[in-house]
Amino acid sequence: MKLQTSDTLSHHDKKRHIPLYFEVEQGAKQLDITFSYTPVELAPALPINEISLSLFGPKGARGARHNNRDMNIRLSESFASPGYMPGQLEPGTWCLEIDAHRIMPGSVVTYTLTIETKTTFNSESLPVFPKGQTHSRGSGWYRGDFHAHSLHSDARWDISDLVAFAKRQNLDFVTLSDHNTVSGLAELHSFASHELLTIGALELTTFYGHALALGLNEWTEWRVNPPNGKPQTIQQLAQNVEEKGGVFIMAHPMSEGDPWCSGCHWGYAEMMPGTANIIEVWNSSWEGTSHNEAALQLYYSWLNLGYKLVATAGTDIHSPSKANHSLGFNCVYAQDLSTPELLKAVRQGHLYLTNGPRLELNAQTKNGTRYLMGDSVPESDAVITITWDDCPNHDIRLIVDGKLHKKIASGKSGFDQLNLDLPARWLSAEIRDAKGDLRALSNPIFFNK
Ligand SMILES: [Zn+2]
Ligand SMILES: [Zn+2]
Repeated sequence: MKLQTSDTLSHHDKKRHIPLYFEVEQGAKQLDITFSYTPVELAPALPINEISLSLFGPKGARGARHNNRDMNIRLSESFASPGYMPGQLEPGTWCLEIDAHRIMPGSVVTYTLTIETKTTFNSESLPVFPKGQTHSRGSGWYRGDFHAHSLHSDARWDISDLVAFAKRQNLDFVTLSDHNTVSGLAELHSFASHELLTIGALELTTFYGHALALGLNEWTEWRVNPPNGKPQTIQQLAQNVEEKGGVFIMAHPMSEGDPWCSGCHWGYAEMMPGTANIIEVWNSSWEGTSHNEAALQLYYSWLNLGYKLVATAGTDIHSPSKANHSLGFNCVYAQDLSTPELLKAVRQGHLYLTNGPRLELNAQTKNGTRYLMGDSVPESDAVITITWDDCPNHDIRLIVDGKLHKKIASGKSGFDQLNLDLPARWLSAEIRDAKGDLRALSNPIFFNK
């Protein structure tokens, strides 16, 4: 089977899924798809026209590539281009979906497409990745990342480079969260070891907001308006992730949006925060100005509305050039270094976000019960203890209901205790440097009244 086609897309096609159906015959062993479009770049100062390709077989998703450089796809039982899943070419109706993330105004995009099946396949095959070995390490603080990309989507480095980066940073866990695909996870998990837990994920890269499906090793629907299915709300997509055992994290909600970063700014009015429980408050760099301060203020405003929300950090790392920037990680108190225990601890908010300093926040009630950050304390007169380390010349700022309650010069390390005798919903701690830049952020302790 071979078919060739060509068509045009305009600005009106932006944020559309355009399905192109084709038949794969019985006995087909290899599928080759060649796709190109022009113009990609309009002018050096303008955003590009941005298209990704999703592939679906009769039994479901076969991957996606969020990338504008190499849009050719090869698929066979033992081989798949990065972003796509190898496996049997099931006979029946397939769909190549053009996901038009951005078509700039005034731009007419012309694409050409060739789809060909063959009854033989060439000798290419992917390595078989044996699963790495992990061992129990017991309860403790574990440091790592919940958000990173590879060549299986739009990053400029391979999975082995991401793992090497994680090891250089002495991380206990690393996550691969490529855009709308899980095709890199088999390789990622081959690097799991006693020292490094690998966590499966994908980033639901929708047209109106991004979200991490943390802990999933299978594809999950990311389209609120799939062309061959019924429309879904973002809340339903989040529920799907949770039902599959994953954790849904609203990613970089205050990132710059269209047209510069298509879909990066959170735009779902029904999830502000609606049923969202976890927000990636700090994304990418911890140096200089960024959208993260706005995300932190948005998060505080939601806490003030009475939502009990968890804050996370993500490097969102895409390339080695970013690897030397000032990045931050999550320090999670978990019962073990395992994906189920880390996900459980994240759901409970038992973590702080840090660019370096150690920061612990807990509460103790009169009867001696201790609570971690993220917990709800039943008594407002519990004694709260804040402990910090590795933070010369910083400020410890205690935030109560979004307002600065107390500021303490940190020294290298120290602790403070307080007994909140005022009505309050929540308390969290920030560590900020002399410039006022955030260096660490606790999850809040909540007060039940
Ligand atoms: Zn994103
Ligand atoms: Zn990302």
